[in-house]
Amino acid sequence: MSKNVANIEKFKFQIDTCDNCRCGFCRIQCPVWDLIRSEAYSPRGKLQIIRAVLEGHLSPDETIAQIFTYCTTCEQCQVTCASNYGLVHPRSYKELVDIYIAFRNYLKEYNPETFKDYVRIKDNTLKTGNPYGEEYNRFANLKEVLNPTDSAETLLFFGCTSTYRTDNIARATASVFNKLDLPYNIIDEICCSSPIFRTGFVEEAISLMEKNKERIEESGCQELVTTCPGCYSMLDKYYRNVVGLDIEVKHASQFLLEKFEERNVWARMDGFKHIVTFHDPCHLGRAMGVYEEPREILRQIPMLELEEMDRTRENSRCCGGGGGFRASHPEEVTVMAGRRLEDGERTRATVMASWCPNCIMNLRFGKKYHPTRMEIKDVMEILDEVIRW
Ligand code: SF4
Ligand code: SF4
Repeated sequence: MSKNVANIEKFKFQIDTCDNCRCGFCRIQCPVWDLIRSEAYSPRGKLQIIRAVLEGHLSPDETIAQIFTYCTTCEQCQVTCASNYGLVHPRSYKELVDIYIAFRNYLKEYNPETFKDYVRIKDNTLKTGNPYGEEYNRFANLKEVLNPTDSAETLLFFGCTSTYRTDNIARATASVFNKLDLPYNIIDEICCSSPIFRTGFVEEAISLMEKNKERIEESGCQELVTTCPGCYSMLDKYYRNVVGLDIEVKHASQFLLEKFEERNVWARMDGFKHIVTFHDPCHLGRAMGVYEEPREILRQIPMLELEEMDRTRENSRCCGGGGGFRASHPEEVTVMAGRRLEDGERTRATVMASWCPNCIMNLRFGKKYHPTRMEIKDVMEILDEVIRW
């Protein structure tokens, strides 16, 4: 991938390959297909629409644009697509979400009104550095816990949702680092660009990536750690491939598991007497392949019992919180979040944990409409509760 990421024409091979098959495996477990049983909204249907538009059989009008607002960029279709199993073509492809993003980028020129929620997010981000349009005071609520060190090799990248919407997660992150004497630095971070990139404002996203890249490089850090899977997948996958950021990037679960093992932090933990079920964030699991580290940490917390839901790891049900879906479809997103809560209720869990501020916010939002016995907690919040000073 390169700066050419937004060029829909470059995906013609994948679209043609699907056209030779049209098996429909990709519909299995797509959260949008679960919601709207209409072929046009399915992953396969979307590819057929793109093909028809590129060949001039359909015009990129409002109806088409509306269909393409129905995707959470959860990557479930990439996992289930028959091309992964050599059933379609010997050359596997795993770029369905990149195809949808490139097509959103193409459609937005024709449909600013249909994409008005995405335009709002883009304008907010370019003006204030965050998609919520909050005044730039990212670390204001963290003053009493933040303890950055200029010479630290580790850079903590907090992300917009944890600092502006779930600041208890950002505080818990800083607190855990403090308790373990883990030196870290911070930068004047702006949005990693995930929301505007995934909703199709690719050129604008690249301009933000360049700014963050410059600040990250100026800090002199050796590794980047983030607690938000959206930031993690952007920084590790897209910053590396699109703007050439050359630095090790880790999700906090990977970084902390290493530190816990090195320092036997397990011995400094109080018990957490709950049955916990773990919700895999799409951008941590399917997007980045991180499934075991959060589970390994949860399993080692004294007295905590981990019980899995039926749909886990690469088949984890999307909570609906990604790809701009919450902004454009606030009602439907609560149905998706509610379905994930129902999955959890079929276990004995009293806590649904995840490791993503977006999932946590969205699942808590879903709780208002789908009452559940379970408390929704980020693993960072649990760690801050159990690790002793
Ligand atoms: S990325 Fe997720 S929501 Fe979008 S089409 Fe694929 S499975 Fe459906
Ligand atoms: S599973 Fe893959 S090849 Fe089959 S219809 Fe879906 S996108 Fe096309």
